[in-house]
Amino acid sequence: MEIRMQGLGVSPGIAVAPVIVHARGRWHVPVYAISNPEAEIERFHLALESAREDLLRLYAQTTAALGSGHAAIFQAHLMILDDPVFQEEVSELVRSRLCNVEHALDRVSREYLEKMGQLAEFHLQDRHADILDVVDRLMERLLAVQPRRLADIEEPVILVARDLSPSETVGLNRELVQAIVVEVGSVTSHSAILARALQIPAVIGVPSITAKVIPGQFLVVDGSDGTVILDPEPNTQRRYRQERETFLRRQAVYAGDTSRGPAIMADGQAVILQANIELPAEVAHGLRAGATGVGLFRTEYLFLGRNDLPREQEQFEAYLDVVRAANGQPVTIRTLDIGGDKLSSAFSAYHEANPQLGWRAIRYCLAHPELFRAQLRAILRASAFGPVRIMFPLVTGPDEFRRARDFMKQVMLELRDENIPFDANVPVGAMIEVPSAVMTADILARECQFFSIGTNDLIQYSLAVDRVNEKIAHLYDPCHPGVIRMIAQVVNAANARGIECAVCGEMAGDPLYAELLIGLGVLTLSMAPVAIPFVREAISELDTASARQFALQALSIDSSEDIRNLLAQRYTKRTARLNSSPVPETAP
Ligand code: PEP
Ligand code: MG
Repeated sequence: MEIRMQGLGVSPGIAVAPVIVHARGRWHVPVYAISNPEAEIERFHLALESAREDLLRLYAQTTAALGSGHAAIFQAHLMILDDPVFQEEVSELVRSRLCNVEHALDRVSREYLEKMGQLAEFHLQDRHADILDVVDRLMERLLAVQPRRLADIEEPVILVARDLSPSETVGLNRELVQAIVVEVGSVTSHSAILARALQIPAVIGVPSITAKVIPGQFLVVDGSDGTVILDPEPNTQRRYRQERETFLRRQAVYAGDTSRGPAIMADGQAVILQANIELPAEVAHGLRAGATGVGLFRTEYLFLGRNDLPREQEQFEAYLDVVRAANGQPVTIRTLDIGGDKLSSAFSAYHEANPQLGWRAIRYCLAHPELFRAQLRAILRASAFGPVRIMFPLVTGPDEFRRARDFMKQVMLELRDENIPFDANVPVGAMIEVPSAVMTADILARECQFFSIGTNDLIQYSLAVDRVNEKIAHLYDPCHPGVIRMIAQVVNAANARGIECAVCGEMAGDPLYAELLIGLGVLTLSMAPVAIPFVREAISELDTASARQFALQALSIDSSEDIRNLLAQRYTKRTARLNSSPVPETAP
């Protein structure tokens, strides 16, 4: 009998495949006395050697598939593995205690992790995860247990896990992992965003799924509506395989779509569509999908999954890659938005009781001038090579914006003194994603050259709904009258000063909300590249006068549910024609 489960679909697509369960468990480490320490240390060296071979292979494979940026994580693991102090401490403990090497390794690594836990630096939290990873790799060998590493997957599977960190998600083999199902998270958690960027179908918020499935069992996953079916019957499998074919064909048709430039509404009004990117390689996806530049370049990937901070030159090269790839189109680079949900999930709550309200984003940068300076210098240097805009995340009001902008001006003076070229008129804007920024948008509009509304965080902070807590994910409501009024208020403040007001949260990439956002006056939408053709198509059906009228109506409705129903009705009516049109057999 098949069993249906319901989660939240966060990355569209369908998969029918056997399950692999990813568990991040700790080992049961035996302790026993030994009489021949040198033989024990020899075992340790054999394990080190075999782990090293593995890491070198993964490094080469990842470099070939995703580029050296992603492979850097394996280099970091090799450095930990080859650390002579670490190796010597383990060997020394074996000799002095005459204990087995697993126990010595466990003791030494725990001490390292404890020391590290006392340091409240974000990049060290990722190092913490890296050490655990290396120790796991060694333990697998010493205890001769079957490895269950994500990068070692060899056949098409559906990956089921309690949670996946952004670095685990980014390291997945896209060809083989056909879908992801996790127990925790929400639509806008970073792993969900990455799954969309990598175009891996994903469903989140399926409680206890790791306990319910057996590895190898068949599963159907629909990443659009969140359906998960355990042990699908033959008819169900057949139906979903057909739907998968149709989805892939439609996607291929859109990928071959050559529409470029702004989306044009039925009455001729242009709406700018830009790409949200997490990785430089995605600029090409964005341009292929018809984006007019990059509306949001999330720079966190440069800081995650490594032992040290990226240097100015390394950052400059990454930003330059994006600017060059954008080929003269504008690139909006967001300064580091670390903290909150943007850490490996295992450690995000480690140092702060309340990380979403904690030491994060622009606050963290202002408190770490050296880190901020290096990033601003790198961005400004890249601005000499093409149109760049700088955007500060999580700005809470005018004072904070001015502090960040004044710091940037100081950095400009330093560059000028050093005769390093940059664009002195680089536009500087704020993400509007905190209610206090909404309430001061009229003041901010005097200081900023553009706004971009981050609806993911704006909804989180205005409705007090943690965006990564699956228990309250159903309360995360873009149609809440409070949210709609906030968007309207920000757009009006921007229009009054003649500055651009974009939306770059996930709302912008959902064709359902296009009419509402455009009706509220938003004429720039930035989204995951994969969403661009769908939003373009939805916009082509809209008309400015009726979108305005609808937005006014939505602003006067007092219930989220009524707003959502009305929005869905109008959308369904418009798309009925599109859905009934046959899907071409092959991509052009
Ligand atoms: C947002 O908050 O809407 C946003 C676009 O930024 P992020 O999802 O990276 O926090
Ligand atoms: Mg945000």
